[in-house]
Amino acid sequence: MRPARALIDLDALRSNYRLARELGGGKAVAVIKADAYGHGAVRCARALQAEADAFGVACIEEALELRQAGITGPILLLEGFFDADELPLIVEHDLWFAVGAPWQVEAVAAFQTTATLTVWLKLDSGMHRLGLWPDEFRAAHATLSALTHVGPMVLMTHMARADELDSPRTREQADVFAVAIEGLAGQTSLCNSPALLGWPDVRSDWVRPGLMLYGINPMPAHTALTERLRPVMTMRSKIFAVRDIAVGEPVGYGARFVAQRPTRVGVVALGYADGYPQFAPNGAPVRIDGQPGIVIGRVSMDMLTVDLTHLPQAGIGSTVTLWGDAPRIEALAPLCGVSAYQLPCGVKRVVREYA
Ligand code: PLP
Repeated sequence: MRPARALIDLDALRSNYRLARELGGGKAVAVIKADAYGHGAVRCARALQAEADAFGVACIEEALELRQAGITGPILLLEGFFDADELPLIVEHDLWFAVGAPWQVEAVAAFQTTATLTVWLKLDSGMHRLGLWPDEFRAAHATLSALTHVGPMVLMTHMARADELDSPRTREQADVFAVAIEGLAGQTSLCNSPALLGWPDVRSDWVRPGLMLYGINPMPAHTALTERLRPVMTMRSKIFAVRDIAVGEPVGYGARFVAQRPTRVGVVALGYADGYPQFAPNGAPVRIDGQPGIVIGRVSMDMLTVDLTHLPQAGIGSTVTLWGDAPRIEALAPLCGVSAYQLPCGVKRVVREYA
């Protein structure tokens, strides 16, 4: 079998969830949309099922996958519904959902059901993507509160720049939120991972951690707090070919690496079709049998090449770690011109192994 693997440490996932919950001081939605950011939503949900207050997904398809796998706890559709036709399914599967556009408010108001819907009413406090303007938000709160088929609402907003500790934007968004909800009944929810890690006074009844659940730090630097995050995914494969090349000889497509000294090249069974960034630069860090090493040459679809010159013991069968405890995703991603969110979400084809 091809040795490319994504090892998923479910204990680390639980530990990160507990940290998020402890920091939040209230309840935490475990955000497991996009197949749990590439970690496998069903397995992650099962691992958290006993303790998660709710799960967050992007759409009803993702929610139904969890229900079909036997996940019975609360599931929140973070973006609500995309068509009013979804509302009967939402009732049937007992889902919570965000409402962040005027047409969604109208659809909920017009919907007839004997069930009680759990709505998370979303305010646009400055991100300008989803959410109701403050006056619409207050009007929607009044409209929905008056309906017998809508239960107590959670009042939510989403932060656009919480990873920028020197930007006033998060504070401004929190202030807009505070004014918009004045006097309205309902629990509140403002924090994604960066807000939770970087802005203690924004934490409230519910937090919504995503990236940090997977042990990935969204902040620009590590602190004592972020050091407590444990990486969940280790991306790993093996060397299955080795060759020696002379000074001046290139490696791989486009001859992007040219040997400056006699160089021993290891070929690793993992490429961009597995989710490793195609434009990782020469020098991108890896671990080879636990020792520091580097990528050389352009990453191919199914394989990549590493420098073995300084590692005489390494060869066929050596284990190469592309990310995990070292290198960390958040260190590798910016070197490759991608975000730390994108890397795990892009993992495919490799076998996931859970421990
Ligand atoms: N809440 C909402 C509404 C989201 O859309 C997301 C993800 O984009 C999250 C929470 C989780 O964000 P993060 O992964 O930054 O913690």
